[in-house]
Amino acid sequence: MDTSSRAASSVPALFVYIPYCASICAYCDFNVYARRDAEFDAYTRAVTREIEMVAQTLPARPRAKTLSLGGGTPSILSAAQIESIARTVAAHFEFDAGAEWMLEVNPGTVDFEKLRALRALGFNRLSLGVQTFDDARLRQFNRAHTVADAYAAFAWARRAGFENINLDLIYGLPEQTLDEWRATLKRALAFQAEHLALYGLQIEERTVLKKRIDAGRVPLPDVDLAAQMYEEAVALAHAAGYEHYEISNWAKPGFASQHNKTYWLNEPYLGFGAGAHSSWQGERYENIRSPREYIKRMETGAAVISAREPITRAAEISETMFLGLRLGEGIAWARFQERFGEDARVLFREPIARLTDWQMLQVDDTRMRLTEQGMLISNQLLWRFLLDESK
Ligand code: SF4
Repeated sequence: MDTSSRAASSVPALFVYIPYCASICAYCDFNVYARRDAEFDAYTRAVTREIEMVAQTLPARPRAKTLSLGGGTPSILSAAQIESIARTVAAHFEFDAGAEWMLEVNPGTVDFEKLRALRALGFNRLSLGVQTFDDARLRQFNRAHTVADAYAAFAWARRAGFENINLDLIYGLPEQTLDEWRATLKRALAFQAEHLALYGLQIEERTVLKKRIDAGRVPLPDVDLAAQMYEEAVALAHAAGYEHYEISNWAKPGFASQHNKTYWLNEPYLGFGAGAHSSWQGERYENIRSPREYIKRMETGAAVISAREPITRAAEISETMFLGLRLGEGIAWARFQERFGEDARVLFREPIARLTDWQMLQVDDTRMRLTEQGMLISNQLLWRFLLDESK
């Protein structure tokens, strides 16, 4: 089996994971920790050390495509801690002018001064975790902010010079009505943000929400209603001039997230921090998840990678299909041919024929893409593009 990566680009996107939050949301199953403020300085030192060490393994002044600070809640760090990370990245990697530098922000963790400092550091895109415009729901899900915090953070971000802002919203909540969601969308659209990320709630194991549902204290969300909410989002965002460029993401023309497109195009990225994943030079690897253990190992010079596996050709092709079909632009035949030396129309003849027949897939001379209906039930469709390891 050929295990060499044929990724279209050898310039990685950079991702720095901050595993801390002010409180843990009831639906969240990420690798996140609350009330660890005393660790922030040590974690910042550890992650900057990892960035330096990885950069030293690369050719001098390696190029990078984009930078994203995600989590968790990166904005929970102080401006000085974020500055230390950003300056380390800038000292070791070369970016094109205007390259996307994004940061996830939770309302309630920023003020105008902090946002102005972040903009001055070179961050040019913010992703604001608004989720809903209902304070009772924010409390219900243990979100650490109010609706007023979201409005204030957005206004400060604009004043600080951010011209590329995403709003994260969540739908399919227990007992949420279609009218409530419609009102949420209308309030979100009134922000005139450049980008909207609209996520359907997933009930994950080992979350407070799952326990509440299992105990009968909260009803299971209605999946049919969630599908209607998605359709409503598609219609309203389209009418407001947003392009539906990925299953859960809408952007004003020119504002699709360049960093996130790296993942959807299955191109290489380097992740730093506790539990961060990397996909680089034909391998996929993951750091240890515990921030305390991560800090300890970085302080003593011990390895932080906990798992490593080669990316087989079959896995790379399958993932390129799963991820690429999430995009509105779909999979371009020529790009696939150039990357893998094969014709996707031949390799996936059977699923293409079947899904086209079901009107879940549209095919033309240049590409294939899911229809809006196909996007809605993509989880039930994309497994058909799983390639056998023997192929
Ligand atoms: S803010 Fe985000 S990462 Fe943190 S607990 Fe809530 S959902 Fe999870």
